[in-house]
Amino acid sequence: MSANIVAIVGRPNVGKSTLFNRILGIREAIVDDVPGVTRDRKYASAEWAGKHFTIIDTGGFVPGSEDQIEVAIREQAQIAIEEADSIVFVVDAVDGIAPMDRLIAEVLRKSRKPIHVVVNKIDSAKRELLVHEFHELGLGDPVPLSALGGRSVGDFLDLLTQDFRQNGVTESDRRLRIAIVGKPNVGKSSLVNTLLGKQRSVVSHLPGTTRDPIDSVVRYNGEELTLVDTAGLRKKRRVTESLEFYSALRTLRSIERADVVVILFDAERGVDKQDLHIVQTAMEYRRGTVVAVNKWDLVEKDTGTAREYELAIRSLLGLHDFLPILFISARTGQRVPKVLDMAQSVWQQQNRTIGTSELNGTLLPLIQEKPPVSPSPKEIKIKYVTQIRTNPPMFAFFCNEPKLVQEHYRRFLMNAIRSHYGFEGVPLGVVFKRK
Ligand code: GDP
Ligand code: GDP
Repeated sequence: MSANIVAIVGRPNVGKSTLFNRILGIREAIVDDVPGVTRDRKYASAEWAGKHFTIIDTGGFVPGSEDQIEVAIREQAQIAIEEADSIVFVVDAVDGIAPMDRLIAEVLRKSRKPIHVVVNKIDSAKRELLVHEFHELGLGDPVPLSALGGRSVGDFLDLLTQDFRQNGVTESDRRLRIAIVGKPNVGKSSLVNTLLGKQRSVVSHLPGTTRDPIDSVVRYNGEELTLVDTAGLRKKRRVTESLEFYSALRTLRSIERADVVVILFDAERGVDKQDLHIVQTAMEYRRGTVVAVNKWDLVEKDTGTAREYELAIRSLLGLHDFLPILFISARTGQRVPKVLDMAQSVWQQQNRTIGTSELNGTLLPLIQEKPPVSPSPKEIKIKYVTQIRTNPPMFAFFCNEPKLVQEHYRRFLMNAIRSHYGFEGVPLGVVFKRK
């Protein structure tokens, strides 16, 4: 699976986040959001002409204080050329080349990765001429567009994605691939080391990606499992590892390459937006997911503690409250094997198929009892349901007026499927099709 990670870099106010939102606006809205997370999102998956990619807005990671901005932006340009697959360098047509643009260009010129200089705010043909000045940055032909108005954005996306691989390319490793992700310091390295323990771990190199990520293989219950992208976690890490931008890029890459995702939270520090962003990302990639609350050894407990903690986390997860939650300690090893058990079980669920007659037998009576309310005078009649794919499981409800079915009814059906069949940790798709 190729990651196709695109980093948008540039100084403040050139239109990075406008471009980011413009590109996201194009994709199909298929994902339920964690409340409060969408508005300030910094990375997301996108698709153009059947090619899937991930886009990351570095502007979202820039610190507020003036004197730190320049350092942060150069650092991010540096990380982008090391870790992303291509770079979109946004400049402002109206401002012309600013001193900070030159500094960024200097960093980017050292890279052999594809770099696209996007000259933004070309809102009309009249402004086209402004693009030429930017040849001087020495990064190839600058591309004019208007992020705000949408002008030439489609042409740019054609160009950006032309060398991306098509969807559906899988890696040859047939072991279950588990990514362990989470904010810096939640205990990812510790967990990987505990899992690998005394095992003589096989290490496999997978060529073809930017950084040649190195995975570890662990044997568990007679089965070999791949822990994705563990090289950096097992070795002494770089200073940059703690940068939010760097860790976000790594997280994306690992999630994309995995079958099942284990997200670590820190029991002592609690759950914040960054944690929820990671959940959101795993759900967008439609990966089976397990939440493991690590450092459980540090929490003072009595009988109800785990239960209370779990309820609190479920309410933060919002619509994603179907994720299994484990309480573990990478340090003491407490319940660490459970993480692998749960990952295997989620993977089974992710690939599970429910027969059509079974589904209809269960769901049609519920639908009869509580039919969809139509926002128009036309009555909605759902005729039957069938599972149209696995990994992730997707259910199609055939009806006369698919467009009229409302979001809350889709949720009702999704919950009905979950309450009968489980699918713990698995993001489900529910679609309506014309009979
Ligand atoms: P960022 O700091 O690089 O993320 O920049 P923003 O996306 O926040 O945009 C900065 C300002 O430029 C905002 O006021 C945007 O509305 C404006 N802007 C962004 N794209 C365009 C564009 O294509 N044309 C014009 N005229 N303004 C734009
Ligand atoms: P990473 O940045 O996510 O890879 O986190 P590390 O594995 O480097 O762990 C960060 C810190 O948390 C280190 O000091 C670890 O020793 C500590 N740590 C990790 N797991 C646990 C745990 O289960 N319990 C306790 N008490 N400390 C832990």
